[in-house]
Amino acid sequence: MEQIVIIGNGIAGITCARHIRKNSDAKITVISAESDYFFSRTALMYVYMGHMKWNHLKPYEDWFWEKNRIGLKKAWVETIDFEEKTLHFSTEETLNYDKLVLATGSVYNKFGWEGQDLKGVQGLVSKQDLELLEENTQNCKKAVIIGGGLIGVELAEMLKTRNIEVTFLIREEAFWHNVLPIQDAQMISKHIKSHGVDLREETELDKIVANENGRVKSIITNSGEEIECQLVGLCTGVRPNVDFLKNSSLETDKGILVDEFLQTNIKDVYAIGDCAQLKQPLSHRKPIEAVWYAGRMMGETLAQTLTGNAIKYKPGNWFNSAKFFDIEYQTYGNVSAKPGDNEMHFHWQHKENTKAITIAFDANSNKFLGINTFGIRMRHSVFDQWLNENRKIDHVLANLKQANFDPEFYTRYEKEIFKSFKENLQKF
Ligand SMILES: Cc1cc2nc3c(=O)[nH]c(=O)nc-3n(C[C@H](O)[C@H](O)[C@H](O)COP(=O)(O)OP(=O)(O)OC[C@H]3O[C@@H](n4cnc5c(N)ncnc54)[C@H](O)[C@@H]3O)c2cc1C
Repeated sequence: MEQIVIIGNGIAGITCARHIRKNSDAKITVISAESDYFFSRTALMYVYMGHMKWNHLKPYEDWFWEKNRIGLKKAWVETIDFEEKTLHFSTEETLNYDKLVLATGSVYNKFGWEGQDLKGVQGLVSKQDLELLEENTQNCKKAVIIGGGLIGVELAEMLKTRNIEVTFLIREEAFWHNVLPIQDAQMISKHIKSHGVDLREETELDKIVANENGRVKSIITNSGEEIECQLVGLCTGVRPNVDFLKNSSLETDKGILVDEFLQTNIKDVYAIGDCAQLKQPLSHRKPIEAVWYAGRMMGETLAQTLTGNAIKYKPGNWFNSAKFFDIEYQTYGNVSAKPGDNEMHFHWQHKENTKAITIAFDANSNKFLGINTFGIRMRHSVFDQWLNENRKIDHVLANLKQANFDPEFYTRYEKEIFKSFKENLQKF
């Protein structure tokens, strides 16, 4: 019987395993060094904040795996012999495969700062990181978070629930301005500050200083300021977890290079999820997309190919969602952080600074390019359709109500949004 081995029990690996099982009787083994069972990484923060127990993060009951004949192995794969199709574990055990799926996820970045390996300095990606955070914040009064991304803002919220003072250093002039247009970024900056976080824009880490026990006692910023702290959160992004695959015949760049069928340069070896880097991404999509739904889509797609129905990975229009303390954010299509000459933005913001819409459209053709929404829930399918149908901005504005989950919102704000749009447009 064919043996399919998957390294990684995250959303990508597990989705792939489940969909293989739907179509095939192949022997499936999923390996992970991190946890016995698949869990929802995106909900790690809720365990720390006490809203959920660890067991609530498991989308499937523990019996699910045996019932579906998906073998689970908790072990660390140290090296892979691609010639012999053999995995070598850190325990000296080995396992052979016919087909191999690499779904090894991400690790957090460290950029060689002095003091980055001190006790009390950590990122937040894995179950072990969460356990370490519990330990590191037992007697913690003050923390510094480095890097203004989605994990950084989650960590700030987590620490605030334990009454830990948080200073948050970001390189950009406003929060996540490498992704969000300036007005959106400034609104989120204000919102984060309104939660008592000492957010420092345009401030970078220079080094981390140890006390006499080898624990962090402070950090020094690039302007020479010393900030005392007992915890440093390293949140300057993640990168594909591929270090153990370097120096092998597998082609890697930042991630594991794959073609449109998610196949690597080696026959019968595939890569999906955060660790995969598409050699030729679709236009407006990035080669590495470390987000939950991309991992799920890759897992589903690859399972088809592995069970005899080869299909290309086609992720469609970009979308994503996140939460910045109380503000829910959704994005569909492409809204550039720093739009070029051909991209125009319409921005509407409620005076309370918790609701906003930014719509991007093409300056020449008026084609709708994408939308960011804050504090307003929108229907994904409606925007997806408008993007696929190449709708114009006036169609989107006239029909925005259709996309909204909350009809009351429109009764209250529709006029204001239209008025603002007219005024803004005249300025362009
Ligand atoms: C705190 C946090 C919040 C997030 N929030 C969001 C969100 O709101 N929305 C969103 O879209 N995305 C979010 N993400 C990103 C999302 O969780 C990831 O994109 C997704 O989980 C990646 O899934 P994956 O299957 O590719 O890899 P992973 O879930 O990382 O799984 C990979 C597994 O492989 C194991 N592994 C790796 N190498 C080996 C080896 N050599 N031997 C054995 N096992 C190995 C790892 O230990 C790990 O268990 C968040 C991430 C974090 C950390």
